[in-house]
Amino acid sequence: MIVILMGAPGAGKGTQAEYLRQSKGFIKVSTGDLLRREVSLKTDLGKRVEAIMSQGSLVSDDILMEMMKAALAKYAELNCVLDGFPRTVAQADWLAGLVKVAGVIHVDVDREELIRRIEGRLICSSCEAVYHVTRKPPMNDMVCDKCGSLLKTRPDDTREKVLHRLDVYTSQTKPVLDYYKSRNQYFCVDGNAGEVAVSQQLDMLLSRIEH
Ligand code: AMP
Repeated sequence: MIVILMGAPGAGKGTQAEYLRQSKGFIKVSTGDLLRREVSLKTDLGKRVEAIMSQGSLVSDDILMEMMKAALAKYAELNCVLDGFPRTVAQADWLAGLVKVAGVIHVDVDREELIRRIEGRLICSSCEAVYHVTRKPPMNDMVCDKCGSLLKTRPDDTREKVLHRLDVYTSQTKPVLDYYKSRNQYFCVDGNAGEVAVSQQLDMLLSRIEH
């Protein structure tokens, strides 16, 4: 079963995808994590996408489709949660031709809340665990509670880039929500609630999607 988590930057898609991985055994496919790995390994692909990602713009559909084709072929028979894909209608259309999507869950968060979350965000340089300087600080300054690696801020998490990413989301990704609404595959949770409350809403939706 393939489930898609959608939402603006900072909506908590990654955190909830991780919840589904740990609590329900889903395979998590995060295109942002996959691309950041290419950048940190300085692969040819990483070099091609680094500047685009640090500006907060979208990487080309061709690159994403190539990357997702390989990832989805690997996990075809398993429960899979997609975090960060599709982000354009072209990507959604391409995906529909490749696999059956069981449901699309929109984690809906107010704009001001998104900005507050992203501006204080800290990410583990190794396991991608997410923290926040005031709301979810690590136990030890700038060190990941889970794996002990250094925490860092993402280069695309500055205020200027966040505003650009929100514009990109509105112009290119919001139409994808309409795409799934028109196909009756769209579900929504209130992402303004705390992490645990959002996970509970997800659990309820998943039992509807599964049956
Ligand atoms: P994320 O971690 O999901 O916020 O993604 C970080 C960055 O990776 C985005 O700002 C884009 O530059 C790139 N990216 C991730 N997923 C996609 C996608 N489906 N299409 C285009 N670019 C993407």
